[in-house]
Amino acid sequence: LNDTTLQFQIKEFGASDRLLVARDITRLVRLEHTRQDFVANASHELRTPLTVIRGYLETFLDQDLPKPMQRALTQMQAQSSRMEGLVSDLLLLSRLESSQHINDEVPINIHQMLITIHHDAEVISLDKQHQITLDVDSEFDLLGQPQELHSVFSNLVFNAVRYTPENGLISIKWFVDEQGGHFSVTDNGIGIDSIHLPRLTERFYRVDEGRSTATGGTGLGLAIVKHALYRHGAQLTIESQLGKGSTFICHFPPDMLYSTQSRIAQQKS
Ligand code: ADP
Repeated sequence: LNDTTLQFQIKEFGASDRLLVARDITRLVRLEHTRQDFVANASHELRTPLTVIRGYLETFLDQDLPKPMQRALTQMQAQSSRMEGLVSDLLLLSRLESSQHINDEVPINIHQMLITIHHDAEVISLDKQHQITLDVDSEFDLLGQPQELHSVFSNLVFNAVRYTPENGLISIKWFVDEQGGHFSVTDNGIGIDSIHLPRLTERFYRVDEGRSTATGGTGLGLAIVKHALYRHGAQLTIESQLGKGSTFICHFPPDMLYSTQSRIAQQKS
């Protein structure tokens, strides 16, 4: 039937007997689509009222108001901008979940993209005085969807900034070997206990609710990273030690690599 989804599994009995099991998962797939549609529509609908609220708050904050009222409005402004971040992350995530592969890949000037992210990271970590280094193998670019990959790399770099205390060291690298291209971010921040690692990329999974809320994250960053990488045929590995720091690495297969020379030649022609 057109609208039926079956899941097949082969079970082995002894040396020669095999059983093919077919499971009808149509209802599960439909439910998942309904959930995705609901999240996408709800996030979209929340956008407009939030923009209006923010507009009014900005107008009020321009007035000469009594101190307690100003404090309250500033709080409301901070919370509504947090909510805007959440809504746009939810929208992005539901878009990423809606299809399994990218089909609009282009050669990305990865050197330039990482210079921009590195610069942004330095700006947001000014008061923490981090030392952030960038090391790029500029012979190879990557084929991919630029906004999604920008989101992946900046989420990992900004997390390193968020979860690394003052005067920390953060190292950003893009390097290539026979297995493909690798983007890595290493920090010597607070680290993560190994019991949390298997669930870390789930939506809204947080190691420590209080700590994460204080740092201003939405709890969706690593879920976005995982889905965007999956769509690029890439994988994420996480190594971390509590109190010592973390390394997040994105592994891209060799067929996603593109020589920088070819990109430059293509741009000139
Ligand atoms: P959040 O918005 O809470 O940062 P993420 O999905 O980006 O959400 O990350 C999930 C959790 O993983 C965070 O709440 C944090 O506890 C942990 N985490 C992510 N990156 C790091 C890091 N570099 N160092 C320590 N903990 C991290």
